[in-house]
Amino acid sequence: MTTEALSTKKNRNSALQTYGPVPSRRLGFSLGIDIVPLKTCSLNCIYCQLGPTSKKTIHRKEYFSSSDILAQIKKKVSSGQRIDYITFSGSGEPTLNSALGKLIREIKKTTSIPVAVLTNSTLLSRKSVRNALMNADLVVPSLDAATQEIFVKINRPYPSLKIEEIMQGLLKFSKEFKGSIWLEIMLVKGVNDSPSHIRKLKEAIAKIKPEKVQLNTVIRPPAEKNARPLSLKDLEKIKSILGENCEIIVGSYREAQISTTENLEGAILSMIRRRPVTLAEISTSLGKGKDEIIRSLDSLLAEGKIKSVTHKSLKYFEPK
Ligand code: SF4
Repeated sequence: MTTEALSTKKNRNSALQTYGPVPSRRLGFSLGIDIVPLKTCSLNCIYCQLGPTSKKTIHRKEYFSSSDILAQIKKKVSSGQRIDYITFSGSGEPTLNSALGKLIREIKKTTSIPVAVLTNSTLLSRKSVRNALMNADLVVPSLDAATQEIFVKINRPYPSLKIEEIMQGLLKFSKEFKGSIWLEIMLVKGVNDSPSHIRKLKEAIAKIKPEKVQLNTVIRPPAEKNARPLSLKDLEKIKSILGENCEIIVGSYREAQISTTENLEGAILSMIRRRPVTLAEISTSLGKGKDEIIRSLDSLLAEGKIKSVTHKSLKYFEPK
C-alpha cells in the first residue's frame, strides 16, 4: 500500500481536516482546512516550513471524503469560536484536491464567513482549477519567480511546470475572478532578491494587478538550511520598488484568547503537524497559559512525538 493510500485510509477513520481557528498573520482567526495529505505539492520550495515534498505531483484527485470535511467545518463553525476566515491551506497545495470547487460552494451555502484559498499558483493555467476557485472570497496566490531559472532554483517544481504558463494562468485568473487577490512573494536572500529579478516581478505584477502584494521571507525553519531571510531593510527597499499596494507581512501575530475544549496535547500536536511553532504562538493560539503549554510540550517531547529546533534565536517545536 502506498503512503498516500495509507493516509487516506487513516483519514477516513480518524484524522481531522480542520485545524484551529489559529491566529494568522493576514487573516485574523483562521479556521484551516487541510485537503491534501502531508506533503503533497507540485513544488518543493527550498523555504518550505513543512520540510521536503514527499509526493510531488500535478495530478488532482479527491483525497478525502468531502462530506466528512464539510461535517468537520460545520461543527467548528457552530462551536461559537471566533472565525474570520475559513482557509484552505495546510499540508501541501490545496488545488491538487479535485473536490476544492465543490467544497467551497457547499461552505458558501451554509455560512457567511469568507472563504480564502492559499495556492502556489502552479495549476492556475487550467480552466478547471480557475473555475474551482471562483466562489472563494479571497485567493492568495504565490509568485516567487519571474524566470524559469529562478523558479527551478527556489521552487524546485514538478518537471513539466513552466513559470511563463503559470504567470499566464495568474493573469487569466485575475481577469476572471471577482473576489480579492493578494499576491504573495517569498523572498530568499541571494536567490530571488536581485534588483533585475525584482524588476521582472514588478512587470508581472503590473499585468496581474492584485489588490495587494505581500512580501514574506524565511522566518520559520526551512526545508533547506541555506534558505536565508532578507533583512527588514532589504524588504523595505523592495517594497518601495514594488509600489503602494505592497506590504511586508513577516511575523506579526494577533493577540488571541481562544478557549479550546479539545485535548490540549492533541490540539498542540495538530498545530505542530501543520508548521513549526513557538511556545508563544501555541499559547496565543490556544488561549492557554505558557506554564500549561510547557507541561504538555514536555510530555510530548518525552514521548518522542515532537522535537525542538532553534532557528534565528527562536525555539520552534516540530514533529519528530
Ligand atoms: S511552500 Fe507551499 S508551495 Fe512550496 S513546497 Fe511548501 S507547501 Fe508546496
